[in-house]
Amino acid sequence: MNSSFQEIGEIFARHESFVIMSHIRPDGDAIGSQLALGFSLLAMGKKVRLINEDGLPDNLAFLPGSERIETPPSEPLEVEVAIALDTAVKPRLGAGALHAASRAKVWVNIDHHKSNPGYGDFNHIDSGSPATGQILYKLLTALDMPFPEETRDSIYVAVSTDTGSFQYPSTTEETYLMAADLIRRGVDVGRINSLTYDNHPFRRVELMRALLNTLELAGGGRVAHWEMTQATYTSLGLKPEDSEGLIDIIRAIEGVTVALFFEELPGGKVRVSMRSKDPRVDACHVCMEFGGGGHALAAGIRMDGPLAEAKAKVIAAVERALPLS
Ligand code: 5GP
Ligand code: MN
Repeated sequence: MNSSFQEIGEIFARHESFVIMSHIRPDGDAIGSQLALGFSLLAMGKKVRLINEDGLPDNLAFLPGSERIETPPSEPLEVEVAIALDTAVKPRLGAGALHAASRAKVWVNIDHHKSNPGYGDFNHIDSGSPATGQILYKLLTALDMPFPEETRDSIYVAVSTDTGSFQYPSTTEETYLMAADLIRRGVDVGRINSLTYDNHPFRRVELMRALLNTLELAGGGRVAHWEMTQATYTSLGLKPEDSEGLIDIIRAIEGVTVALFFEELPGGKVRVSMRSKDPRVDACHVCMEFGGGGHALAAGIRMDGPLAEAKAKVIAAVERALPLS
């Protein structure tokens, strides 16, 4: 059962100290959502800590206020309220972040993943929203909360990155009206898009070259997949965020319905990113077979290796999920 914005507003009003968290391997929606809500609460005079298990990725360091994102302290924080944003299941907050938030008395869970079971005391899960950032925009404007420039820019980037620059089918009229309002409030569109999309480290393009050398098709041309080994990761000196969004290149291939990115993690686990272009192929559903989750058209898994075995299993499951024609 979803809590109303009013109920969540009362939690904000009745408490003074908050820890705001998002998922491991944070993307633009995760960090952007933390900053958006965090700076609004700070502007209300609240005490706020912004904790992420993996800290701030370099590619989001341009966001104003992002220096406030911290890795978890070793001792639990003395805070009243823990807020999880954009995080489908509680363990995806990370063990260190969960420990840091362990003294909180009230848990608030705001997310747009349809697989979110509602692990908070107060939950607001809107799987119709393209990004958690858009839910926060609605929450903050509905409650007439402060809207400083850190909040404004972070919401823009959160929604832009989770919609593939306002392109995916989850993008609605409401999304564009929100974007228009953010521009009216002062977002510098050219500058912020350039910082988000035209500012990649050279090693990311080297990674693209390495990935292209592993590109293959399956399912009669309807499945495209590529892989990143630990050897590639270390030899190019990569960071976790360097592969963010590259899957869109193979998702864009004509005739491809499902794109897959396989990443060998240290310790032998495998991370899978899955994208579907056809609503009849539910990527979240396929990923849940392997303990993963996400959205209908964008989902992921962390599973046991070795890489070749994980690939064979996931590709077979995707082929089974393809429509007959
Ligand atoms: P990405 O491929 O960009 O890492 O993730 C796509 C979507 O799937 C995101 O919304 C992300 O939260 C979700 N997702 C990715 N990996 C996992 C996973 O291991 N477990 C679950 N439950 N969701 C995941
Ligand atoms: Mn998201």
